[in-house]
Amino acid sequence: MKQKTVWHHTTLLLTILCVAVTAITASPGYAEENGQEAKVAVIIDDFGGNTGGVYRFLRSEIPITVAVMPFLDESTEQAEMAHELGFEVIVHLPLEPKRGKASWLGPLPITSALSNEEVKNRVRKAIEDVPYAKGLNNHMGSNIVGNKRIMKAILEVAREYDLYVIDSGTSPDSVIPELAEEMNLRWAARDTFLDDSRSSRNHVYKQMLRLCSQAEKHGGAIGIGHVGIKGTDTFNGISDSLAHLKNRNVRIVPVSELIPTSVEKDPSQFWQRIVGGEADE
Ligand SMILES: [Zn+2]
Repeated sequence: MKQKTVWHHTTLLLTILCVAVTAITASPGYAEENGQEAKVAVIIDDFGGNTGGVYRFLRSEIPITVAVMPFLDESTEQAEMAHELGFEVIVHLPLEPKRGKASWLGPLPITSALSNEEVKNRVRKAIEDVPYAKGLNNHMGSNIVGNKRIMKAILEVAREYDLYVIDSGTSPDSVIPELAEEMNLRWAARDTFLDDSRSSRNHVYKQMLRLCSQAEKHGGAIGIGHVGIKGTDTFNGISDSLAHLKNRNVRIVPVSELIPTSVEKDPSQFWQRIVGGEADE
């Protein structure tokens, strides 16, 4: 048996910690200018426990990208189920924040005290616990994403498994973009958080419209929401936005469709934008 811990009590806190707000101004459409359809990816974090909106999302036809935390009660089962249902799966890797309790991170998180070898062991175990993962993103991590030694170890394992990397945007000091470029990995950064611990269905809806505007401006944009305690509101808010997206000719796609391969990379495109001014606390 794998090590598992109780997840339910931590969900609200994690939702609080995963939150940030950015400003965006709508501008002339990429789609209009380029005659192409704009795309958004909607990553839903914190799968792995039986909480909030897990089954609302898994039973729906909205092509979210399912980010599963490793080592939870249902991590492996939910990853398998999501894959079978046709969703793209990624590992939602728990990284130590600057502030907060270790329990918010769940089992076997990546912390600054670990050796490079132990970091790599934990990342490999996390990937094995979340079958079919095509990428990884960070859960929390304000104390780790700025740590070059540890991030390099994590990204080396991502490369071993041929995973793309998404910077969730939990710290302005993140070295993920810089390292991922250096290492020639496929990567991107989160544009908009879709929800927070207090967010209503209407708030999520508005965040989806913002994500849609970002996609129209840049060709593509990545939003992150959470499946946790407010997951039903997140699900409903996203559902409410589908008509608007359709109207604007903006399509929801798996994250991998928004990340170019290294040879296709164009520096003017959205994935080169560096995350800034965010916080996970
Ligand atoms: Zn998370």
